[in-house]
Amino acid sequence: MASSAIKTEDEKKEFFDSDEVVDRKVHKLVKMILKSKHFIAFTGAGISTSCGIPDFRSGYNTVLPTGPGAWEELAQKKPPKRSKVVHITEAIPSKTHMALVSLLQNGHLKHIVSQNVDGLHRKSGIPKNALSELHGNIYLEKCKVCNKEYIRDVDVVTSNDARVHLTGNKCDNIDCQGDLVDNIINFGENLDSNVINRAFREAELSDLCLAMGSSLRVNPAARIPKEVAKKGGKVVIVNLQKTPLDSCAKMVIHAFCDVVIEKVMRELRLQIPIFSIQRFIRINKNERSLEIKPIDEDGEPFSFLKSVRVKDGEKSLRICKGQYFFEALTCKEDIRVKLRFQGHYGEPSLKVLIPSDCVEEKLSLKYSPMTGIWEVNRVY
Ligand SMILES: [Zn+2]
Repeated sequence: MASSAIKTEDEKKEFFDSDEVVDRKVHKLVKMILKSKHFIAFTGAGISTSCGIPDFRSGYNTVLPTGPGAWEELAQKKPPKRSKVVHITEAIPSKTHMALVSLLQNGHLKHIVSQNVDGLHRKSGIPKNALSELHGNIYLEKCKVCNKEYIRDVDVVTSNDARVHLTGNKCDNIDCQGDLVDNIINFGENLDSNVINRAFREAELSDLCLAMGSSLRVNPAARIPKEVAKKGGKVVIVNLQKTPLDSCAKMVIHAFCDVVIEKVMRELRLQIPIFSIQRFIRINKNERSLEIKPIDEDGEPFSFLKSVRVKDGEKSLRICKGQYFFEALTCKEDIRVKLRFQGHYGEPSLKVLIPSDCVEEKLSLKYSPMTGIWEVNRVY
């Protein structure tokens, strides 16, 4: 991707439409959404600032609680004013992230193209086939040899040197054991051709693109909404600063993304879902062994467990990493298993009782950071 840092004071300036203007524009936007056949969203760092993650291009005197963007901080060389910043792994998806989940589930939205590497779209519940993460995802690593992807519950980017992508982990496949690399695209590096091609295919199909929280200054990403406009589709931009694509947009809304999306959802009579952490485990058991596999919604490996402790009679078996495979179990009685998680959202350990007659089972584990309660359900 190519860097294009904001340079002039005018480009850093933030604009705010009045409430009446926002209401009028949202009403028009909702009409466009209801008429569209292939509505896509294009998202930038501005949808994650309300989660406490600073963006790249906000000016030093921004109204955002996350303070100036990364480039401005570098340029100003003085401590930034910030009232809200959280560690990226602890960030809770914003109202915008959660509303997009509902818009997708209700058939309004067809695809999301994102410039963000914070992984919040996947965390919010957007399935990977409905998402093009142009610049990568800090929770994803890929095998250099067999290309197998692994999603983790920890930031896999280990080096401050942007040229180093090795994560230090190896492929789980015993026949492969290739080196794993992160998929972050730094400035000067080429985008993954599969990802950018899919994003362009979605743009070509799209008759409406809602670009939210992006200054639309980084290419080739910014060519996605441009492509929609070029093919005759409508582009609506929600951003505090002006963007180079304002002139080809059908409408520009200068307001916070969360404010706009709340009004959109209200007019569509849709609820914004409450964020919860969704995990799955697969259990395989026979008379002599027990295997517990943490998986994602597609059944692919997802290492969100820190450790698993199994009580077998009087013995306590514990494996910290790897496949969670326990041999020489009694397995004739119910087995008590204690799962420990990474705990980014303060999620406590969870005790699961595996019945003696269990052979194979998939469990859904849902945790609400609001209530602090795990909900366990069998998946059939
Ligand atoms: Zn491999």
